[in-house]
Amino acid sequence: MKEQTQAAIRRKVVIVGAGTVGSTHCYALAQSGLADEIVIIDRNEDLARGQVLDLVHGQPFFPTVSIKVGSSADFENANVIVITAGAAQKQGETRLQLLQKNADIIKNIMNDIISHNSSGVVLIVSNPVDILTYVALKYSGWERGRIIGSGTVLDSARFRYLLSAHCGVDVHNVHAYMLGEHGDSEFAAWSMTNIAGTPMENYCPVCMNCTDWKTERRQIEQEVRDSAYHIIGYKGATYFAVGLALVRIVGAILRGQRSVLTVSTLLDGEFGLRDVCLSVPCIVSHEGVNKIFESNLNEQELESLSASASILKTALKELNL
Ligand code: NAD
Repeated sequence: MKEQTQAAIRRKVVIVGAGTVGSTHCYALAQSGLADEIVIIDRNEDLARGQVLDLVHGQPFFPTVSIKVGSSADFENANVIVITAGAAQKQGETRLQLLQKNADIIKNIMNDIISHNSSGVVLIVSNPVDILTYVALKYSGWERGRIIGSGTVLDSARFRYLLSAHCGVDVHNVHAYMLGEHGDSEFAAWSMTNIAGTPMENYCPVCMNCTDWKTERRQIEQEVRDSAYHIIGYKGATYFAVGLALVRIVGAILRGQRSVLTVSTLLDGEFGLRDVCLSVPCIVSHEGVNKIFESNLNEQELESLSASASILKTALKELNL
């Protein structure tokens, strides 16, 4: 009977880091019905236990799902491993010291994943997500599609929401993508942005909601970039929207959906760039990134992507990989 139950478990997600992002993601994933089993691991074992206890009391209200505290042994048969573990900046600590600390955390977790022969897809969420995705890839030597960063999936959602509110159109009819670094150098790919199939350059002149659409576009783009700063300023951390963005990515992997998502991936010549992880449109499926979708970016957007890549490469040079 026990064996049968084990065999029936097909969609297993391990979340490493039971802090605000990890626990919120678990809550959203449980409600989505996409996973059969969710395992939470944190080096603070009491936190993991407390989060799981709080979550399992919601079982009568969730679709059927097992939620439990786990260990590195759970990596072995996980379909997706979501890494939200990270250290917070301490007083007097430099940005580089924090970066090195988080890079070392990721390397340790990857070490456990590798030693348990996991065949799952690794989804890095901890920041700086592009750098840490690169660290995990280089450390593991795995094929590039299997380790991805959550990248600008969240930022693209923020962009879609702001455009939807501005234009007065259902967010589900707004297709919009933020590309590049998940950070200050990210940019809006206006050439790929459309409302119900109408490119923005055709939509803006007929939408009566703008007085000066060129200026308002710039303001919307900047608001996307500043979103995290505003939320952190108000309440100390961001977690609801990212928890849902992660459900979207994990769902695309578990169900092999071939969804186009702006995850962070290692470039190898695409868009004229290589040896750097950043967000571009990718087809996400069972194996992680199945294909990079080399969309037709305009010259200015290609320059912005290249500028993001240079910033990330400079940061990588400072690291002891
Ligand atoms: P948090 O401090 O609440 O949680 C982090 C957790 O990681 C803690 O519980 C800590 O005990 C755990 N941890 C640290 N090292 C560990 C290890 N080696 N093994 C297991 N657990 C370990 O932080 P948070 O608010 O949940 O944010 C987590 C990360 O996600 C941060 O790096 C944050 O910047 C990032 N984040 C990313 C995005 C995105 O879009 N990519 C959005 C929001 C937050």
